[in-house]
Amino acid sequence: MALDDYVWAAGVATELVNTTAEVWRGDDRLPDPAALVAFAKLHGDGPGHEGGPGALSALARRGGAAELRAVHALRTAVRDLIDHPERERLVAGGTALTSPARGATLVPGPAHGNRARWAVPLREGATIADALSLICGIGVLGVVHTLGERRFRSCGAPTCKGAFIDTTRPGSRRYCMPGLCGNRLNVANHRARRAAPRAPRPGDGPEP
Ligand SMILES: [Zn+2]
Repeated sequence: MALDDYVWAAGVATELVNTTAEVWRGDDRLPDPAALVAFAKLHGDGPGHEGGPGALSALARRGGAAELRAVHALRTAVRDLIDHPERERLVAGGTALTSPARGATLVPGPAHGNRARWAVPLREGATIADALSLICGIGVLGVVHTLGERRFRSCGAPTCKGAFIDTTRPGSRRYCMPGLCGNRLNVANHRARRAAPRAPRPGDGPEP
């Protein structure tokens, strides 16, 4: 896990916390080990990330029911950090999440030139829950370090129970799943406007 990859790591943490039944109205998006493999493949297998392409889903394939339970527990722990974003809490919680790592080292840069990157490798025998824990920990610590604790927020859509870590440059992200929650809100607003035309209030001028 390269330490400068915290934007990707925070993205994985966001995706993970938004798989819960709470967010999906009773429909847990990580119900079984196969779903965990699919999650690892979709979010964790990009080039240059932990262990190289395919490494995370390969770990997930080795995991069973116990690993799935550990990932569910991790999900709850990360959500708890996002929901209570005090700096000391985030630092302590993020640090605890990185416990599956070995000591810091240098790995070749993505271009495999002379440039090296700071990294913390997983310890031998680490599970998919360990790997995701390390990723979430680096995501949390990296964002606190670089962007600050105001980047840990709840989804802005009134009907959504999701949360996210905002790694956008201006820090203006509003939704946990921008495509879905932004549209959900637009649809809700549109319906509300059609269903209940605004009654004129005292002080309203004549319509132009
Ligand atoms: Zn949302």
